[in-house]
Amino acid sequence: LSVGIPKETYLNEKRVAGTPATVSQLCKEGFSVSVESGAGVGSSFSDEAYQAAGAKIKDGRAVFSSDIVLKVRPPVLRASGEHEADLLKERNLISFLYPAQNQELVDKLSENKNTVFAMDMIPRTVSRAQGFDALSSQTNIAGYKAVVEAANEFGRFFSGSMTAAGKVPPAKVFVIGGGVAGLAAIGAAKNMGAVVRAFDAREAAKEQCESLGAEFLKVKFEESGDGGGGYAKEMSKEWHEAAAKLFSKQCEECDIVITTALIPGRPAPKLITREMIELMKPGSVTVDLAAEAGGNIETTVPGELNVHNGVKCIGYTDLPSRLGSMSSTLYSNNITKFLLSIGPQGNFEVDMNDEVQRQMCVLERGELRWPPPPLTPP
Ligand code: NAD
Repeated sequence: LSVGIPKETYLNEKRVAGTPATVSQLCKEGFSVSVESGAGVGSSFSDEAYQAAGAKIKDGRAVFSSDIVLKVRPPVLRASGEHEADLLKERNLISFLYPAQNQELVDKLSENKNTVFAMDMIPRTVSRAQGFDALSSQTNIAGYKAVVEAANEFGRFFSGSMTAAGKVPPAKVFVIGGGVAGLAAIGAAKNMGAVVRAFDAREAAKEQCESLGAEFLKVKFEESGDGGGGYAKEMSKEWHEAAAKLFSKQCEECDIVITTALIPGRPAPKLITREMIELMKPGSVTVDLAAEAGGNIETTVPGELNVHNGVKCIGYTDLPSRLGSMSSTLYSNNITKFLLSIGPQGNFEVDMNDEVQRQMCVLERGELRWPPPPLTPP
């Protein structure tokens, strides 16, 4: 079978779904691999490096006519005026897809009789699937990069210092949400010498935040935030009122606020209001990793750096892509491992009895398979 790795044409997207290392792995497994010219440029992989790994360099159209196409972003309209979903006719696609938010795209892929697996639908509690978990590999990078972007905008060191020129206290960083991104942000900020405080609606996050050196804060209101499967639920109005007191105090005291709070299938909870931002010292920085899902901070403008009352509010939605080489390497490993788990080359049949494929399969030859129907007992 042939595998195609196109260039991502989504605005500012630097990632690519294959590296020379994963191309070489696929070639060794017997796949013939083609890569679109320039696909790896944003991640520092040249056409020559892909060629040396065994790939053929082709144009976009030819790459999309491969048996299996590997992508990062869901198919988009190309500058040529062609939609990637149309170039894919009767092919197999593995990519981030977010089917719940992309109904029109799913319909288009269905009309074209494609088989599609969504990398964002990986069941995260199945240990066999951990190697395919692109959500974790990419949000881990986003958490780290959030701290780097904040440091870039912040006018002081993160660590405290005592020099002949004067004494500078360490920066105070407050991280909301102790999931994959939040934990990465805590680790990065702590390593840079900041004092780190953390908060999550799930009590289970406390131990993990503390193990990375953060002080875990509590809301003075008893309500479990556990929504099952390690995810949070939507909190009550009363809880939000009590939490607002905690957040206001932290905004007054901290220099940097990084928010990562998400609830599966729901808009991101609004946690930091405009008034709270106005309590922050001028020169403070916020980074809202929930920007694309509606944002946790009222002053976030998705994709932009918005200055409100002297506070720099970062709403970038391309944080993993800003670390192109790293995010491409990990994503390519995730997607290649998943492809190879489907079966030996020559056998690309969907197995709806396999719990990982069952969760990830959105379309099988154009037939809708998502959300997965309950397993019929044997
Ligand atoms: P996520 O992106 O869905 O949410 C980020 C964090 O925001 C979560 O910790 C959540 O509790 C928190 N949050 C939501 N609403 C909040 C609010 N109102 N106030 C404060 N915090 C709020 O989470 P994620 O990073 O995808 O991780 C979800 C879970 O999955 C975690 O328990 C994680 O350990 C687990 N996980 C397991 C595996 C694995 O076993 N392989 C892999 C990845 C993640």
